Amino acid sequence: MSDKQKGLVEFVRNLYPNAEHRFCAWHLYNNFKQDFKGLVLKDILWKAATTTTLQSFTRAMKEMKDTDLGAYNWLSERPPVHWSRSHFSSYSKCDILLNNLCESFNSSILRARDQPIISMLESKRLILMETIKKKRTAMMRYIGVICPKVVKNIDKLINSEYAKGWIRRLCSNEDFDVAGPNGVQYKVNLPNKQCGCKKWEISGIPCIHAIAAMGFNNLEPLDFVDDCYKVETYMRTYDNTMGPINGKDMWPSIDNVSLLSPDVKKRAGRLKKARRREPEEPKDPCRLCRWH
Ligand SMILES: [Zn+2]
Repeated sequence: MSDKQKGLVEFVRNLYPNAEHRFCAWHLYNNFKQDFKGLVLKDILWKAATTTTLQSFTRAMKEMKDTDLGAYNWLSERPPVHWSRSHFSSYSKCDILLNNLCESFNSSILRARDQPIISMLESKRLILMETIKKKRTAMMRYIGVICPKVVKNIDKLINSEYAKGWIRRLCSNEDFDVAGPNGVQYKVNLPNKQCGCKKWEISGIPCIHAIAAMGFNNLEPLDFVDDCYKVETYMRTYDNTMGPINGKDMWPSIDNVSLLSPDVKKRAGRLKKARRREPEEPKDPCRLCRWH
């Protein structure tokens, strides 16, 4: 996930040929709106970015074409595999569109950023060591198989307005038709963890249509969440703790390298540390891409 910095696409492709590279949709929108303004175009762009099916992506792009050909051409030049959920891989089980993760990591290392290189690395090591320890300790106290945020999201989804009125019809032992109040209908297959809306495959978390189908046999939605959201997996992820190290006076000394100070011109005024928010950027951009 990046902010669409120049050169990064090729770099990521060469260095990590199997990695899925996404662009922050918020940054994409900010570039877009410099040339194409207005709420109508903004809504269509977000519709195209957040939708999970190819069909509704195509409809959103057609709407863009009919509304503003220039905006459509601008967007068509950017492969949707980088910015629309409809084209995301189902391998990573992650539907994020915004790079909040990088932003919050950057803000956590703010105090280290203006230090000399060795002190900066040492500060970052301490920050990571403390964070990893804190996360492990908090999760060790938690009782449950699936991580608490996912459990909370599923509860919220079940109790939402969107969850009301879905009718499931059993077609075979495994396949269901799930029809909604507004005429939409999806095919659900429980053993394959698939739903026509594609949300389940992309995120690894059952969508409301799948949860409706599970209700037919009183199955528990949490049993169908992908393994990557299990507490056990979380603990394994944070298993690689940052080890303690001895102080500087214990480090091996090297005689033949002399470090020169960097050639940096001091600018007038105090350096700004906090990230400058884009105009209009909300404090919680997550609300823009929340899944149902
Ligand atoms: Zn679904």
